[in-house]
Formats: sequence, C-alpha cells, structure tokens
Amino acid sequence: MIPAVMPTYARVDLAIERGEGCWLFGGDGRRYLDFTSGIAVTALGHCHPHLVKALQDQAATLWHCSNLFRIPGQEKLAQRLVDNTFADTVFFTNSGVEAMECSIKVVRKYHDDTGNPGRFRIITCGGAFHGRSLATLAAGRQEKYLKGFEPMVEGFDQVSFGNLNEMRAAISDDTAAILVEPVQGEGGIRVGSVDYLKALRQICDEFGLLLMYDEVQCGVGRTGKLFAHEWADGAAKPDVMAIAKGIGSGFPVGACLTTEKVAKGMTYGTHGTTFGGNPLAMAAANAVLDVVLAPGFLEGVQARSKVFRQRLEAIAKKHPKAIDEVRGSGLLLGIRCVQPNGQMVDALRAEGLLAVGAGDNVVRILPPLTASPEELEQGAQMIERAAAKQAASAGSA
Ligand SMILES: *Cc1c(COP(=O)(O)O)cnc(C)c1O
Repeated sequence: MIPAVMPTYARVDLAIERGEGCWLFGGDGRRYLDFTSGIAVTALGHCHPHLVKALQDQAATLWHCSNLFRIPGQEKLAQRLVDNTFADTVFFTNSGVEAMECSIKVVRKYHDDTGNPGRFRIITCGGAFHGRSLATLAAGRQEKYLKGFEPMVEGFDQVSFGNLNEMRAAISDDTAAILVEPVQGEGGIRVGSVDYLKALRQICDEFGLLLMYDEVQCGVGRTGKLFAHEWADGAAKPDVMAIAKGIGSGFPVGACLTTEKVAKGMTYGTHGTTFGGNPLAMAAANAVLDVVLAPGFLEGVQARSKVFRQRLEAIAKKHPKAIDEVRGSGLLLGIRCVQPNGQMVDALRAEGLLAVGAGDNVVRILPPLTASPEELEQGAQMIERAAAKQAASAGSA
C-alpha cells in the first residue's frame, strides 16, 4: 500500500523531533550534530533566538497579505539585498526552484524586449542542479531526474563545468545566457574558480549574453562571503541571480535578483506569486540578514571554516582508504569517499553526525554558519572515527 506521504524520498528511519543550535534530537533518544543544515538551509542553526523572536512577533502581527498591497518587510529586505549586492531589484519566491524559474523568465523577457526574441537558449553545466520543475530539470539535464518526465522543456544546452572552450563553442545566435552555480552543490561540491567566473563574465559581455548565477545553495554566507561569486572581488558579477535555502534559515523563502537594465521588461502582470514575499517569510529573512550582515560575522565564518577544513584535510591524509579528497569553500564542504558515499553517511550517523550525499561520491559537510569552534571540532572527531572505521573495513575487504 502506498504510504500517506508520497514515497519520493529514501528516508532514513529516524524521526527528528526537535532542534537547538547545531543539534537535532531524534525519536531514538539520541542527539545528532546537524551538519546537513537541512541541505544548507538552516544557516543559523535551529531555533536561533533572534529568528524565533522575529517570527513570533510577526506571527502575532500579520502572517499573510497579498502582493496586491505594499508589504513593508518586503521593501526592507529587497532594499538590503540591493544595498549589499550587484542587484537593483528583487522578486521574492518560496523556494529555490521558483527563484530559478523567475530568473529564466527574466532572461527570456530581456532578450524579447530588446528585439531578440529568438535568443532564448541558456547554456548550463554538467553536474548542475537547478531544481525539480520541468524547466529547471531541462537546465540540469540529469538523466536520473528527467527519466519518465519527458518531453524535456526546450531551450537548454549543456557543456562541462569549468571548460571555457566548450562554453565558447556552444554559443549560437539563439543563446540568451550562461547559467552556473559558482559552487556546484548537488553535483558534488565542485568550486568554480575565480578565473572561471571572471572568464564567463567576459564571454557574456563579448557575445551580449546574460550571466546567471544559481546561488541557491552556495549563497547567504555559506562560503564565507555573502554570495560565493564575491570571491572574484566584483570582477564576475551576474546579471541575474537566484537565491533561497539559507536566506530564510528554515523558513521557505527564495528570491530572484537582477539589474534595472535586465528587469525593464518585468512590468505589471508579467510574473506573480500568491505566497512569495509574505510578511512571515520576510520577517525570517530580515532576521537572518541582521545576523549575517552584522560586522565580523562573515569573517568569523571564514576563520572557523579555515581551521575546520585543515582538520578535514588532515583526516583525509591519515585515512586515504576512506577519503580521497576534501573540497569546497567556507562551510560548503565535501569529502570524496573511496567507498560508496552512502556508507560514509551511515557511518557518520552512527557516530552522531548527520551529513548528506552528493554527486561524484561526495559527502557534503554543511555545518550551520553559527557552529562554534568546539562544535566543529566535535564534528571533526566524529568524521575521523567514521573515516577510521571505513578505512578498516576497506582494509579487510
Ligand atoms: C536546492 C537547490 C535548488 C532548488 O531549490 P528548492 O528550494 O528545492 O526548489 C536549485 N538550485 C540549487 C543550486 C540548489 O541547491
């Protein structure tokens, strides 16, 4: 009999009952160090007092109000994002995939409005993940997600991530934009180098294309900058960017950010959402920004992630039969496993640490940005024990 919850996930048989900071409490009576962060969502950990207060206050004031009216929290959040990024204007959504869909529409509309309606194709990268809608599945072009859902939405081409020759060769008269994740998340924590991002910016300028970033996973402080592409120091700014995950730290919020020039065609009636940008969501996201934009917060993430990464590198060096590479940026980290990554995820959970698999046999290690040095060290010790056990089982196999 089909379960009441549609069985589209191979769920771990562990009921999560409560969260506090970096910790989750399971129905099995154990507590777990949560280095999944809900897949890079709970940026400030669980039940952060400032977020709880902001949501409680908003819950007692106003939950929802249609976008037919002005929503002060939305105006405030949009202005803060504009002040702190390349963007001039923001559309709020409830999820990453909606932020991506909006981004794709913005790109198509821009070219249509500027006299190039034939320019609608978007070049994406192998290993990309942009969401589970029909258009974003076509953008990601992952066989395993598309199978059974054909026909595929038209308008996406794909090249290898990091390969500029292939990128140039794929550009045609129909090309509208290049879309990349500055750091690929689901694809296995693959970091696009600063030089790669700068070159993409140049290519876009040369061919009149728009540069789109999907920072749904790598944004909002995850890499130690507010947005991952900022590591290029302003030399690789996008024209359109989708964000979500960390911006609500657990409250569903996403956004499409773009410039005045590109958004010119996004006039009354061209796009909409019932729930996107509602007062509760805006209260949560504004509270997240209060913390993330506070002086020293991102520097703290950088400093703590540096120490933590060195620990992971040392563990990998000590247990090459278990881990063959550590990669990533900030607290968006991946360990590539020698044995199947699912075994490592299970071994980590047995030690009391929750982590999540990704492509390329990687296990993602995504601590809350608020994890203390002590908690990161506790996590490192659990990873070390799990790696030792994995290496031992490999030795005896
Ligand atoms: C998670 C993710 C998405 C999709 O976000 P949803 O909120 O699940 O729709 C899109 N792009 C990237 C890079 C992601 O990591």
